[in-house]
Amino acid sequence: MNNYIPILMYHGIKTDLQSVPQGREIGADIYDVTLNNFVSQMNWLAQHQYHAIAIEEIDKLSYQKQVILTFDDGEMNNFIHALPVLQQLKFQAYFFVIVDRIGKPGYMGWDELNQMQEASMIIGSHSMTHPILTDLTDVQVEDELYNSLKILVNHLGDGVNTLSIPRGFCNDKVMQIAYASGYRHVFISERPENLESDCWDRIAVKASWNHQRFEKAIYGIKPINEQISDRVKKTIKKSLNGETYNRLRNTLISISSK
Ligand SMILES: [Zn+2]
Repeated sequence: MNNYIPILMYHGIKTDLQSVPQGREIGADIYDVTLNNFVSQMNWLAQHQYHAIAIEEIDKLSYQKQVILTFDDGEMNNFIHALPVLQQLKFQAYFFVIVDRIGKPGYMGWDELNQMQEASMIIGSHSMTHPILTDLTDVQVEDELYNSLKILVNHLGDGVNTLSIPRGFCNDKVMQIAYASGYRHVFISERPENLESDCWDRIAVKASWNHQRFEKAIYGIKPINEQISDRVKKTIKKSLNGETYNRLRNTLISISSK
């Protein structure tokens, strides 16, 4: 059996009728998967006997086909659209929330997060304010990671012990602070080449994916054109600081959308 366990990273799940939260980061919409696509992706997993599980269950259930589902940013559409689909298929998933945005328009509040937990979903931190952590001082990183964990634990109990690094920027220093703050598992997006710390890297599911591209991701295959553009991105990212890279990326996004 194939032992590869894909870890998928979703963000917003959207429909034509529903608007996404105001004030999101530029480029966030490339990760907005439509509800139709999300439903067909989840159904495909279920039809192919995949189980969506928590990290702790990987060894216990190693005889099964497994996938790990994660959602970043804590948008309300996760509660409205994703939760019923997951519950129906008995899939478990991680929801990483930006603590400062809990209960703001378009984002889940404590009530929704409680209901998520009651439905066996796992809530984790996605920092206080969603900054580029590698541009911050150690004390600021601590504030982002430790304070957000503390607030979540106070409201939701000590089962909260996972972190998702915001916006794809991390290094070993950030990871050390994360583990020292009390996190047991840290999820990132693509692993930077020079990162040595333990963490779980994920596949970002994109709005532009058709079903074939989704299946490739489940089998751990990345098309060659994406491999090339990722290599270019990684090289640029390594040579610039987070904010400079981000400005360049935002400029390219705004040019290409004109
Ligand atoms: Zn995020």
